Amino acid sequence: MAKVFQATHVGKVRYNNEDSLIVIEPETFVVADGMGGASAGEVASQMLVEVVKIVLENVPAPWDEKLLARAILVANEKILETAHQHDEYHGMGTTATILSLDGDKAHFAHVGDSRLYLLRENQLKQMTEDHSYVETLVRRGELTAQEARVHPMKNVLTQAVGAVKELQVDAGNFPVQSGDKFLLCTDGLTNMVDDETITKILQTESNPADALIEAALNAGGKDNVSVIVAGVD
Ligand code: CA
Repeated sequence: MAKVFQATHVGKVRYNNEDSLIVIEPETFVVADGMGGASAGEVASQMLVEVVKIVLENVPAPWDEKLLARAILVANEKILETAHQHDEYHGMGTTATILSLDGDKAHFAHVGDSRLYLLRENQLKQMTEDHSYVETLVRRGELTAQEARVHPMKNVLTQAVGAVKELQVDAGNFPVQSGDKFLLCTDGLTNMVDDETITKILQTESNPADALIEAALNAGGKDNVSVIVAGVD
Protein backbone atom coordinates (compact mmCIF):
# COMPACT_ATOMS: atom_id res chain seq x y z
CA MET A 1 0.00 0.00 0.00
CA ALA A 2 1.15 3.51 -0.77
CA LYS A 3 1.73 6.02 2.02
CA VAL A 4 -0.17 9.15 1.08
CA PHE A 5 0.18 12.81 2.07
CA GLN A 6 -1.93 15.66 0.75
CA ALA A 7 -2.14 19.40 1.33
CA THR A 8 -3.54 22.54 -0.28
CA HIS A 9 -3.09 26.23 0.51
CA VAL A 10 -4.57 29.45 -0.88
CA GLY A 11 -1.09 30.99 -1.01
CA LYS A 12 -0.04 34.48 0.03
CA VAL A 13 -1.57 36.61 -2.73
CA ARG A 14 -4.95 35.18 -3.80
CA TYR A 15 -8.20 35.43 -1.89
CA ASN A 16 -9.71 32.10 -2.86
CA ASN A 17 -8.37 28.65 -3.49
CA GLU A 18 -9.43 27.44 -6.94
CA ASP A 19 -7.54 24.13 -6.61
CA SER A 20 -9.30 20.91 -5.67
CA LEU A 21 -7.79 17.57 -4.77
CA ILE A 22 -9.13 14.19 -3.77
CA VAL A 23 -7.87 10.76 -2.76
CA ILE A 24 -10.19 7.95 -3.91
CA GLU A 25 -9.79 4.42 -2.59
CA PRO A 26 -8.11 2.30 -3.83
CA GLU A 27 -4.92 4.34 -4.38
CA THR A 28 -6.24 6.93 -6.82
CA PHE A 29 -5.27 10.60 -6.67
CA VAL A 30 -6.64 13.67 -8.45
CA VAL A 31 -5.52 17.31 -8.54
CA ALA A 32 -7.40 20.05 -10.40
CA ASP A 33 -6.59 23.75 -10.84
CA GLY A 34 -9.66 25.78 -11.74
CA MET A 35 -9.84 29.00 -13.72
CA GLY A 36 -12.56 31.52 -14.42
CA GLY A 37 -13.98 34.74 -13.00
CA ALA A 38 -15.55 35.18 -9.54
CA SER A 39 -15.88 31.74 -7.93
CA ALA A 40 -16.12 29.88 -11.27
CA GLY A 41 -12.63 28.35 -11.02
CA GLU A 42 -13.51 26.77 -7.69
CA VAL A 43 -16.74 25.41 -9.15
CA ALA A 44 -14.94 23.87 -12.14
CA SER A 45 -12.18 22.14 -10.16
CA GLN A 46 -14.66 20.92 -7.52
CA MET A 47 -16.95 19.52 -10.24
CA LEU A 48 -13.98 17.77 -11.81
CA VAL A 49 -12.99 15.86 -8.66
CA GLU A 50 -16.61 15.03 -7.81
CA VAL A 51 -17.47 13.73 -11.30
CA VAL A 52 -14.24 11.70 -11.53
CA LYS A 53 -15.04 10.04 -8.17
CA ILE A 54 -18.58 9.17 -9.29
CA VAL A 55 -17.47 7.76 -12.66
CA LEU A 56 -14.67 5.64 -11.14
CA GLU A 57 -16.71 4.32 -8.23
CA ASN A 58 -19.36 3.15 -10.68
CA VAL A 59 -16.87 0.58 -12.01
CA PRO A 60 -15.03 -2.09 -9.95
CA ALA A 61 -11.32 -1.28 -9.45
CA PRO A 62 -8.63 -1.55 -10.83
CA TRP A 63 -9.15 1.52 -12.99
CA ASP A 64 -7.03 1.75 -16.14
CA GLU A 65 -6.04 4.89 -18.01
CA LYS A 66 -8.93 4.52 -20.47
CA LEU A 67 -11.42 4.81 -17.63
CA LEU A 68 -9.48 7.71 -16.06
CA ALA A 69 -9.59 9.52 -19.42
CA ARG A 70 -13.29 8.77 -19.78
CA ALA A 71 -13.93 10.23 -16.32
CA ILE A 72 -12.24 13.46 -17.44
CA LEU A 73 -14.38 13.53 -20.60
CA VAL A 74 -17.57 13.09 -18.55
CA ALA A 75 -16.45 15.96 -16.28
CA ASN A 76 -15.75 18.03 -19.41
CA GLU A 77 -19.36 17.64 -20.56
CA LYS A 78 -20.78 18.45 -17.12
CA ILE A 79 -18.65 21.57 -16.73
CA LEU A 80 -19.48 22.77 -20.27
CA GLU A 81 -23.17 22.20 -19.58
CA THR A 82 -23.06 24.07 -16.25
CA ALA A 83 -21.15 26.98 -17.81
CA HIS A 84 -23.75 27.11 -20.57
CA GLN A 85 -26.63 27.25 -18.07
CA HIS A 86 -25.17 29.91 -15.76
CA ASP A 87 -23.79 33.20 -17.11
CA GLU A 88 -21.52 33.66 -14.08
CA TYR A 89 -19.74 30.38 -14.90
CA HIS A 90 -19.17 31.18 -18.56
CA GLY A 91 -15.58 30.43 -19.60
CA MET A 92 -14.68 28.39 -16.50
CA GLY A 93 -12.35 25.43 -16.81
CA THR A 94 -9.91 23.29 -14.90
CA THR A 95 -6.81 21.19 -15.24
CA ALA A 96 -7.02 17.50 -14.30
CA THR A 97 -4.20 15.14 -13.36
CA ILE A 98 -5.16 11.64 -12.17
CA LEU A 99 -2.95 8.76 -11.02
CA SER A 100 -4.31 5.33 -10.14
CA LEU A 101 -1.99 2.68 -8.67
CA ASP A 102 -2.75 -0.98 -9.20
CA GLY A 103 -0.04 -3.20 -7.71
CA ASP A 104 2.96 -3.00 -10.02
CA LYS A 105 1.28 -0.69 -12.52
CA ALA A 106 0.53 3.05 -12.54
CA HIS A 107 -2.22 4.49 -14.74
CA PHE A 108 -2.60 8.19 -15.41
CA ALA A 109 -4.71 10.68 -17.35
CA HIS A 110 -4.05 14.38 -17.74
CA VAL A 111 -5.20 17.73 -19.18
CA GLY A 112 -3.63 21.14 -18.53
CA ASP A 113 -0.54 22.25 -16.61
CA SER A 114 -0.86 20.46 -13.30
CA ARG A 115 1.78 17.73 -13.20
CA LEU A 116 2.58 14.15 -12.28
CA TYR A 117 6.17 13.48 -11.20
CA LEU A 118 7.92 10.23 -10.35
CA LEU A 119 10.89 10.13 -7.98
CA ARG A 120 12.77 6.89 -8.67
CA GLU A 121 16.34 6.14 -7.59
CA ASN A 122 16.81 9.81 -6.65
CA GLN A 123 15.81 11.04 -10.13
CA LEU A 124 12.77 13.30 -10.42
CA LYS A 125 10.96 12.78 -13.71
CA GLN A 126 7.96 14.72 -15.02
CA MET A 127 5.52 12.11 -16.37
CA THR A 128 2.99 14.54 -17.89
CA GLU A 129 3.44 17.20 -20.57
CA ASP A 130 1.92 20.62 -19.91
CA HIS A 131 -0.85 21.64 -22.30
CA SER A 132 0.38 25.20 -22.34
CA TYR A 133 1.41 27.76 -24.93
CA VAL A 134 4.98 27.98 -23.61
CA GLU A 135 5.37 24.18 -23.56
CA THR A 136 4.41 24.18 -27.26
CA LEU A 137 7.20 26.70 -27.90
CA VAL A 138 9.67 24.61 -25.86
CA ARG A 139 8.81 21.51 -27.89
CA ARG A 140 9.35 23.48 -31.11
CA GLY A 141 12.75 24.58 -29.80
CA GLU A 142 11.70 28.25 -29.71
CA LEU A 143 12.06 28.60 -25.92
CA THR A 144 14.26 26.92 -23.31
CA ALA A 145 12.65 25.33 -20.25
CA GLN A 146 14.24 28.08 -18.15
CA GLU A 147 12.76 30.84 -20.37
CA ALA A 148 9.37 29.13 -20.18
CA ARG A 149 9.36 29.36 -16.37
CA VAL A 150 9.40 33.17 -16.44
CA HIS A 151 7.56 33.78 -19.72
CA PRO A 152 4.68 36.33 -19.46
CA MET A 153 2.31 33.84 -21.16
CA LYS A 154 3.27 30.84 -19.01
CA ASN A 155 -0.28 30.63 -17.60
CA VAL A 156 -1.95 30.31 -21.00
CA LEU A 157 -3.26 26.78 -21.50
CA THR A 158 -3.80 25.21 -24.91
CA GLN A 159 -6.70 23.22 -23.48
CA ALA A 160 -8.59 22.84 -20.21
CA VAL A 161 -11.41 20.61 -18.98
CA GLY A 162 -14.74 22.41 -19.48
CA ALA A 163 -13.31 24.94 -21.93
CA VAL A 164 -13.44 22.98 -25.19
CA LYS A 165 -15.83 20.36 -26.62
CA GLU A 166 -13.12 18.31 -28.36
CA LEU A 167 -10.82 17.56 -25.46
CA GLN A 168 -7.59 15.58 -26.04
CA VAL A 169 -6.82 13.69 -22.82
CA ASP A 170 -3.27 12.37 -22.43
CA ALA A 171 -3.31 8.93 -20.81
CA GLY A 172 -0.90 6.09 -20.24
CA ASN A 173 0.57 3.53 -17.88
CA PHE A 174 3.99 2.49 -16.67
CA PRO A 175 5.47 -0.10 -14.27
CA VAL A 176 5.82 0.75 -10.57
CA GLN A 177 8.89 -0.20 -8.52
CA SER A 178 9.31 -0.56 -4.78
CA GLY A 179 10.51 2.78 -3.36
CA ASP A 180 8.82 4.92 -6.06
CA LYS A 181 7.38 8.23 -4.91
CA PHE A 182 4.69 9.99 -6.92
CA LEU A 183 3.89 13.69 -6.75
CA LEU A 184 0.77 15.29 -8.21
CA CYS A 185 0.77 19.08 -7.99
CA THR A 186 -0.70 22.30 -9.35
CA ASP A 187 1.49 24.98 -10.94
CA GLY A 188 1.45 26.96 -7.68
CA LEU A 189 4.20 24.53 -6.63
CA THR A 190 6.20 24.20 -9.84
CA ASN A 191 6.23 27.94 -10.63
CA MET A 192 7.65 28.68 -7.17
CA VAL A 193 9.90 25.72 -6.30
CA ASP A 194 12.63 24.19 -8.49
CA ASP A 195 13.10 20.47 -9.23
CA GLU A 196 16.16 20.20 -6.99
CA THR A 197 14.25 21.47 -3.94
CA ILE A 198 11.25 19.26 -4.73
CA THR A 199 13.57 16.23 -4.99
CA LYS A 200 15.24 16.98 -1.66
CA ILE A 201 11.90 17.39 0.12
CA LEU A 202 10.56 14.11 -1.31
CA GLN A 203 13.74 12.33 -0.20
CA THR A 204 14.04 13.71 3.31
CA GLU A 205 10.81 15.09 4.80
CA SER A 206 8.57 12.93 6.98
CA ASN A 207 5.53 14.89 5.74
CA PRO A 208 6.54 15.87 2.20
CA ALA A 209 3.14 17.43 1.35
CA ASP A 210 3.32 20.00 4.15
CA ALA A 211 7.00 20.66 3.41
CA LEU A 212 6.30 21.31 -0.31
CA ILE A 213 3.53 23.78 0.57
CA GLU A 214 5.85 25.54 3.00
CA ALA A 215 8.54 25.79 0.30
CA ALA A 216 6.04 27.36 -2.13
CA LEU A 217 4.92 29.87 0.52
CA ASN A 218 8.52 30.71 1.43
CA ALA A 219 9.22 31.36 -2.26
CA GLY A 220 6.37 33.90 -2.39
CA GLY A 221 3.20 31.77 -2.59
CA LYS A 222 1.89 33.70 -5.59
CA ASP A 223 -0.72 31.10 -6.47
CA ASN A 224 -2.88 28.45 -4.85
CA VAL A 225 -0.76 25.37 -4.26
CA SER A 226 -1.87 21.73 -3.97
CA VAL A 227 0.10 18.51 -3.68
CA ILE A 228 -0.49 14.81 -3.21
CA VAL A 229 2.52 12.57 -2.48
CA ALA A 230 2.19 8.79 -2.64
CA GLY A 231 5.14 6.58 -1.66
CA VAL A 232 5.18 2.91 -2.61
CA ASP A 233 6.68 0.51 -0.01
CA1 CA B 1 -2.68 27.59 -10.47
